[in-house]
Amino acid sequence: MSSDSDNVRDLEAELDRPEAGEHGVPVDAMCTCCKCVTVKRASIDEPDPDFVPSFRHVCRRCKCVTWWNVIAVLRGLIDAEEDGDEP
Ligand SMILES: [Zn+2]
Repeated sequence: MSSDSDNVRDLEAELDRPEAGEHGVPVDAMCTCCKCVTVKRASIDEPDPDFVPSFRHVCRRCKCVTWWNVIAVLRGLIDAEEDGDEP
């Protein structure tokens, strides 16, 4: 019996990593340099965050700041923690 368990990603665990960043909207992003895909927090201030195509962030594999292309916005990952966070 085959299993897809190796391909299942723990998005919340990736978001908890320090290199994901501390502020911003969780996004699934691909490093334009090494092509790795991981969850990052993108500092998105646009009215329509779903439309932001790329942002700059550090890549642990590249060991430098590089450009990341947003694949998907993962707002669901922080919906719970942002509830009641408004002043
Ligand atoms: Zn990279």
